[in-house]
Amino acid sequence: MLDIDTIGWPGSLKGVLGQLLDLAFPPLCPVCSSPLPIPSSNLLCPACLAHVKAIRGPICTRCGIPFETSKGPDHLCWRCIDQTGGLDWTRSLFEYHSTVSTLIKGLKFLGDKSCLKALTWISRPVLNESLARLSLKIHEGTCIIPVPLHPSRLRDRTFNQSLLLARKLFPGFQVKNHLVMRVRNNPPQTGLSAKLRRQNVKGVFAVSSKKSMENYSRFIIVDDVMTTGSTLEEMARVLKREGAQNVGAITVARSIPAISTSSTSP
Ligand SMILES: [Zn+2]
Ligand SMILES: [Zn+2]
Repeated sequence: MLDIDTIGWPGSLKGVLGQLLDLAFPPLCPVCSSPLPIPSSNLLCPACLAHVKAIRGPICTRCGIPFETSKGPDHLCWRCIDQTGGLDWTRSLFEYHSTVSTLIKGLKFLGDKSCLKALTWISRPVLNESLARLSLKIHEGTCIIPVPLHPSRLRDRTFNQSLLLARKLFPGFQVKNHLVMRVRNNPPQTGLSAKLRRQNVKGVFAVSSKKSMENYSRFIIVDDVMTTGSTLEEMARVLKREGAQNVGAITVARSIPAISTSSTSP
């Protein structure tokens, strides 16, 4: 399909052309391929949008996992009470299933730009809400770092979905995709236990320029999906080892096993 966003025409002309194209070729929902209602700025059909579940709270103030109960204040979960890892905070925007899972897989494995657009569209308001709850103001001293791919995996995939998401979620900010490098091509984390996941990411990351880090007072790691958080923790640990004071993480989605939603017991 013709993507008029990539054409360098004046905005008003793009708007008119966009409306004509929408009439001739109604935009499709990137999840179920049904035509989107016109006129509408929605990038998902109502049915698929209804299956998007934002993580709102109460959540663990450190790792961001939602608790079973929908009432009460945010607080530390049983895992984080005694834990002092690399990450100071983590926030995931959506539960990883249904619509969000399809969009992320469409972006990650098919490079589908309509999935990226739809993810950006649903994510921005939830991200702003999360940052406001953290009382976090993003300023020029904030460094946005996507989780890097190993060069050989980047060669196969041709793009890094975390970099694409970081640029869309933090427009206007410097996204430093070479500050942390993946120096070991570890096997995918899929299917591994939490313990094996931690072992699998040991020694995977390295900071490319400690000097460049001095320009920033805060670092935010961006990734598509969080499962146990081992990858994010390891990256944060490497950043802190090189002098970072404040490291947080934002992921678009998070896998939430039923057993992990208890706030009081392992
Ligand atoms: Zn749909
Ligand atoms: Zn926690």
